[in-house]
Amino acid sequence: MIFIKRIFREEKEGLFRFQTAQQEHSPELEKKVALKIAKNNVKRLIPFAAIILLIEIINQITILLTSSEDSLRAAYLPAGILMILLMVSAILLAYLVLRRSFAAAGHCRLLYRSFWWLFSLGMLVFIWLEICTRGSTNNFIYLLILTAAFPLLTWKESLLLFCADTAVMFSFALYSGLAPQQMLQFPLIAIFAWILSRMLYSSYKMNEIMMAQLKISNQKLMDLARTDPLTGLCNRRGIQEQLQEILPRFDHPVRTGFLMIDIDLFKKYNDRFGHEQGDQCLKKVADTVKECTKGPYDITSRYGGEEFLVALVDYSPDEILRMAERILSEILALKLPAADDEVSPFVTVSIGAASVMTPFDFITLYEQADRALYRAKNSGRNCVAMNCSGQDTGNFS
Ligand code: GH3
Ligand code: MG
Ligand code: MG
Repeated sequence: MIFIKRIFREEKEGLFRFQTAQQEHSPELEKKVALKIAKNNVKRLIPFAAIILLIEIINQITILLTSSEDSLRAAYLPAGILMILLMVSAILLAYLVLRRSFAAAGHCRLLYRSFWWLFSLGMLVFIWLEICTRGSTNNFIYLLILTAAFPLLTWKESLLLFCADTAVMFSFALYSGLAPQQMLQFPLIAIFAWILSRMLYSSYKMNEIMMAQLKISNQKLMDLARTDPLTGLCNRRGIQEQLQEILPRFDHPVRTGFLMIDIDLFKKYNDRFGHEQGDQCLKKVADTVKECTKGPYDITSRYGGEEFLVALVDYSPDEILRMAERILSEILALKLPAADDEVSPFVTVSIGAASVMTPFDFITLYEQADRALYRAKNSGRNCVAMNCSGQDTGNFS
């Protein structure tokens, strides 16, 4: 009794112990695991039904060839045909549900629940025939073991199925006058089979939860490795990876631009207002750049210190230039007080722009943008310089 209670508790709470230790209980995760279990149940149905189909065909052939009694053949034949039909339809339906996009948890659950109820029904017909012809109840043990080992049913589903099977078996036994010790076997075997089914289900579900959590944790780690913690923008690793994801989506060469944005005289800013204020300034500049670059293929990154690298995929040189000038004026419009009036009374940036056609080398394009930035700095800062496919196109302010 204590053992059974423990199994109930394990399934209801214990399965999520690992999960809650790692992260908050997530209904999203539970849903994912439920769908995975439902799909897996349908996947298991195919080999299971195929084996039963094969056994049943061999059974029918053996009866036809060896049995001399016509009444036996007549009794087993319709039951055998029904079982074969059930297996063939289960294989077909499982195949269809898994192949189609509508492999939703609901469809999967309906399919495998109906299958196990119908399979039990079919087996009970055979058991009845066996009791009548040979007085044997062996098939009942096979039915319980198969129901315990193959489907991944929740405790309610399996309890209902095991109780129904045992109750039918009891009525068969009463009706056919089996010995009381034989009747006692049924609930005992059913309890053991049910415990076995719970153990298999628990370990399988635990495994699925751990796998799902591992996936989530890996994704979180990947996101952390790509993100700059101060500004929330992606870092240099992030921009490279995102470009590698975006560029292959185009099946024709596209013009791509880089904007290298550097805050002017930021060292002085830090010296005058302090590092904390410097961080706030970095965040505001980052937010403004992000606000300006909202295109479907725009990638904005904090490339290092006070430098931001923006990738503009599928932009013409004119559009790249316009974007650079917009960023320049939006940052000036923030009116963040500068450390001194050397360039402007407000915080400004210098931008180096470069543009090439795909395919291109990331480092080469970056170096072109960096060279243009150097020119913008030398031209008095708070301006844009552009480098188009290796050709300098002059300064713009
Ligand atoms: P220039 O106009 O030529 O770019 O001058 P600059 O002073 O901006 O350039 P420099 O490379 O001399 O200095 C960059 C400064 O950026 C130095 C460093 O203290 C500051 N910095 C880099 N990262 C951070 C950061 O995360 N927070 C703060 N507050 N400051 C940073
Ligand atoms: Mg710099
Ligand atoms: Mg700077």
